[in-house]
Amino acid sequence: MSIPTVRFAPSPTGYLHIGNLRPALFNWLYAKAHGGRFILRYDDTDRERSTAEFADAIAADLAWIGIVPDLVIAQSDRLPSYDAAVETLKASGLLYPCYETPDELDRRRKRQQARGLPPIYDRAALNLSAEERASLEAAGRRAHWRFKLSGGDIAFNDLIRGEVHVRADTLSDPVLVREDGTYLYTLTSVVDDIALDVTHVIRGEDHVTNTGVQIEIWRGLGGVVPVFAHHNLLTTSDGEGLSKRSGALSLRSLRADGFEPMAVASLATLLGTANAVEPVATLGALAAKLDLSHISRAPAKFDPGEVAALNAKLVHGLPYAHVEERLAKLAVGGGEDFWLTIRANLVKVSDAAQWWQVATGDLPAMTEDETMMTLAADLLPPEPWDVQVWGLWANAVKAASGRSGKDLFLPLRRALTGRDHGPEMKSFLPFIGRERAYARLIGARRPA
Ligand code: GLU
Repeated sequence: MSIPTVRFAPSPTGYLHIGNLRPALFNWLYAKAHGGRFILRYDDTDRERSTAEFADAIAADLAWIGIVPDLVIAQSDRLPSYDAAVETLKASGLLYPCYETPDELDRRRKRQQARGLPPIYDRAALNLSAEERASLEAAGRRAHWRFKLSGGDIAFNDLIRGEVHVRADTLSDPVLVREDGTYLYTLTSVVDDIALDVTHVIRGEDHVTNTGVQIEIWRGLGGVVPVFAHHNLLTTSDGEGLSKRSGALSLRSLRADGFEPMAVASLATLLGTANAVEPVATLGALAAKLDLSHISRAPAKFDPGEVAALNAKLVHGLPYAHVEERLAKLAVGGGEDFWLTIRANLVKVSDAAQWWQVATGDLPAMTEDETMMTLAADLLPPEPWDVQVWGLWANAVKAASGRSGKDLFLPLRRALTGRDHGPEMKSFLPFIGRERAYARLIGARRPA
């Protein structure tokens, strides 16, 4: 038995976004759960649009998520393998030369449509004699090469979609080699998957028809056909496919905005599955949770606001050890106690800096009832302060002022923190400390 081997095969023509992170994660998690190998393959045969910068950015963005490939390859380095595969297919008659120009093909398609026929390539080139081909070439025409499909029903068992059928008689024989000698993805992908012993191809459902065609190419090349899984795609709330234009968030921007990689990974993985969308702490835990058969067949709607919501949930449970270094960089003090006091109020870890400022910095002056503030300031107990202080002090202010409930707590919170909401005051107050608390209460006085 070969080791489960999967691959993620982006074209390095742009940055990864949450939509195209999904196949990366599904493959990675599958490899993790099954002790397999994960290959990152750059589908960079489109030399004009592919760049080394995008390839590097993809690797860096995957690493941020926690995906580190066992092997990285680029199709542009593998041209001799494609040459050899083309020779094999030509020798067995599965690849045949065609000379139609795009205009000719277009006219033919229109004629077919006018007669109510499906616009499928009619294989006219198969009838060309050697002389006809020679005279076309002599006239300067160069061949493009099509793969001869069987014309039958191509069936496969999909780990997500169950039994899938692709009818080859509804498809044109695919062009695998262009007139200029360059190769199409339909071919190169199969050649690589065979060469690298890929056992599982997990990719978007937009590839189902490709899979039908590629299964025949696999057979033509004598390779072992892998297991397939086609996952649903994310759409915008209007049902449009996710793309840069439709506001899909790039991993770069999510990272720059301070979101946690595991919030992004949890969302990308669990959206559109039978699992609840919730933050999962590690990729290992996500791998244990996800079964490909849990992925639903219907497209999944993606709401960019979910990233922040999920990030907040994740942050609310992050242990201090996980954020200690980052808090130090943000100059947030107070150690673990401060972190545990404020984390439930954060959307991002970086928001901790605002609460440290609220605890220890200068606040814009608030205006609250003078009598109450004077009285409250005078009742502040001496330090040292712990979590008991707030309750004792608030009780004393209650008794002295006759205020209770919201009338008591809201003005105190506002004077002490400058905000209506925030961490529990009993834990937060000790970080403000007596001196600042006193100054803030006095500073907040306003004649009634
Ligand atoms: N480059 C292809 C894509 O990004 C790869 C598809 C596949 O996984 O075979 O759609």
